[in-house]
Amino acid sequence: AAKGAGRNRYSYFTPTLQVAALNRMRLTNDLRGALKAEQFELYFQPIVHLKSGRIHKAEALIRWNHPQRGVVSPMDFIPLAEASGLIIDIGEWVFRASARWVQRWRHEHHPEFQVSVNQSPLEFAREDGAYDTWLSYLQALGLPGQSVVVEITEGLLLDANATVSNKLLQLRDAGIQVALDDFGTGYSSLSYLKKFDIDYLKIDRSFTRNLAPDSSDMALSDAIIVMAHKLGLRVIAEGVETPEQRDLLAAAGCDYGQGYLFARPMPAEQFDALLREQGVQR
Ligand code: C2E
Ligand code: MG
Ligand code: MG
Ligand code: MG
Repeated sequence: AAKGAGRNRYSYFTPTLQVAALNRMRLTNDLRGALKAEQFELYFQPIVHLKSGRIHKAEALIRWNHPQRGVVSPMDFIPLAEASGLIIDIGEWVFRASARWVQRWRHEHHPEFQVSVNQSPLEFAREDGAYDTWLSYLQALGLPGQSVVVEITEGLLLDANATVSNKLLQLRDAGIQVALDDFGTGYSSLSYLKKFDIDYLKIDRSFTRNLAPDSSDMALSDAIIVMAHKLGLRVIAEGVETPEQRDLLAAAGCDYGQGYLFARPMPAEQFDALLREQGVQR
């Protein structure tokens, strides 16, 4: 709801391009101080086993608690963070905060619990050694690479250069798993699925939204699931909002689901309470 309200307010106050540009500049400026002012917060949304509805892992989703604007959606500020280079420090913060939470949840709820972390293309494609830092941070917390899943998007693999390919290999060596986010919305070139070692496909919400028996979205989802399984990948459906969608996906053999039907993204302490209540199924 906050997201919708934010977006309406946005368009209401941006009658001209100039105002929009000014607004972006202001927001970028505010973004520079946001880390230090501790305005970022991680929300977590469960990824569940579709058949049982039980919690398998969680996706970390960043929120910006802006002192004047309220909660700003990542859709509105991640692009600004990328354009300004701030994404590197923000990404580092996201990773560290995620690692601390997964450490706690592995300790208190399930020793194999995982947290899935989003990486925008610019973060992933950077040349310097982010992963060395990541790995030593995990090590310092006594965590194996298997505690973390990295979510990247198709576009990154389509024009993968040596840096990207090497990073994927490094992740693999460290035991960190990789998920392809928003699958099906990108470039529909499938050759990279055999070229790179991917663990999960996340079927984009735009397919889940209009699922109905015999619909074209059902046919596409069916095909994605069959293909993924033949390639040894597991499938997560995004944006599951209704029991009908859940049932159709489960019948098609989809492994996991994520969406408002199960739970909205929530503050970490609340997610902790959910884990205590419902437990974890691996
Ligand atoms: P995403 O990675 O595809 O994350 C899923 C988005 O779908 C989240 O939006 C989530 O709140 C939303 N969602 C989950 N279930 C449902 C549902 O049933 N219905 C609908 N309509 N939406 C659902 P959110 O949290 O606003 O994040 C938007 C995007 O921002 C993410 O898409 C991801 O690309 C990016 N993002 C979020 N956190 C981070 C971060 O820490 N780092 C980076 N680089 N990007 C992030
Ligand atoms: Mg994601
Ligand atoms: Mg997604
Ligand atoms: Mg998305």
